[in-house]
Amino acid sequence: AKQSGRNQAHFFTAAMQEHANQRMTLEQDLRHALERNQLEVYYQPIIAGKSGRVQGLEALLRWHHPERGLIPPDQFIPMAEETGLIGSIGEWVLETACEQVQQFYAAGHELYLSVNISERQRDLGLDADAVASVLKHHQLDPSRLILEITEGLLLQDSQETVAWLQGFKGLGISLAIDDFGTGYSSLSYLKRFPVDTLKIDREFIRDLNSDRYADSLVSAIISMAASLELRLIAEGVETEKQRLTLIGQGCNYMQGYLFCPPLPADKLTHWLSSYQP
Ligand code: C2E
Ligand code: CA
Ligand code: CA
Ligand code: CA
Repeated sequence: AKQSGRNQAHFFTAAMQEHANQRMTLEQDLRHALERNQLEVYYQPIIAGKSGRVQGLEALLRWHHPERGLIPPDQFIPMAEETGLIGSIGEWVLETACEQVQQFYAAGHELYLSVNISERQRDLGLDADAVASVLKHHQLDPSRLILEITEGLLLQDSQETVAWLQGFKGLGISLAIDDFGTGYSSLSYLKRFPVDTLKIDREFIRDLNSDRYADSLVSAIISMAASLELRLIAEGVETEKQRLTLIGQGCNYMQGYLFCPPLPADKLTHWLSSYQP
C-alpha cells in the first residue's frame, strides 16, 4: 500500500506539473497573440424583441490559436487579467470595434456599440481620457458607446470605482452591468453607480419557463429595472418561447442565438444586409 501511495503521489505531481506547463505555454502564447494577429473581434446583434429590429452590437473577443484552434474568452480572459495583458488586449478590442463600427455605419447600419471591459483595466490606464481619444480618432460619438462591466466590480463599492465610472459617464458614454443577478446583487449599489442598463445573465433566461426560481427572479429584475428606469437586456435568448415570455413580462431588448450568434465582421455585414425583422 505504501508503494502504491508513493506512486500515486508521483502520478499526481506529474499531472500537476503537466498542467502547470500547459498553462505557462498558453500564457507565453497569449503574450504574442496580439502582435501575431491571432485575436479577432466578433459581433453579436442586440435586438428589440417586439419589432425584431437591431439596436446595437456587442463586441466579443476570440483567439485563433495556431495549434489549439478557437479559444473562447472564458479560457483566456482570466489569464489576461492576472498577467495584466488585458490592458493592451482591451485597448485593442476597443480600437478595433470602434473602427469596425464606422464601417457598419458606412453600410447604412446605425447601431450602437457595446464593449466589455475588465475592472483590471482601471489600473492599467483605461480612463475617460484614453477612451475619449479612441472615440475621437474614429470619429465616434460617445453616445454610441456602451461599456459593459461585470457585477463583481460594483460590489467592491469603492470611491475609486465610482469616480472611474463617473469619468466615462461625463463623456456621454453609457454603462451596463453585465451578468446581472449572478453576484450578491444589492439594490443600494445601483443608486451609487451611474449605470443605465442591466443585462440579465443567460443562466436565468435558460431556466425561464422551467424553473420557478428563475421565473420569479427574472420578473423581479424586470419590475425593478422599470421602477429605476434602467434599460434591460436579456442575454442568451435561444427560443421563441423565451422571447414571448420576456416580451410578455416587459423586457423588450434581447440578445441570443434565436436571432444571431456572435459573428466575424464580414459575416455580420452580410447578416445585417439580408436580415428582415
Ligand atoms: P458576456 O459578456 O456575458 O457575453 C455573452 C456570452 O454569451 C458570449 O460568450 C456569447 O457568445 C454568449 N451567447 C450569446 N448568445 C447566446 C445564446 O443564445 N446562448 C448561449 N448559450 N450563449 C450565448 P463568449 O463570446 O464566449 O464570451 C464569454 C465572456 O468573455 C463574455 O461574457 C465576457 O465576460 C468575456 N469577454 C468577451 N470579450 C471580452 C472582451 O473584449 N473583454 C473582456 N474584458 N471580456 C470579454
Ligand atoms: Ca457582455
Ligand atoms: Ca453577460
Ligand atoms: Ca458572462
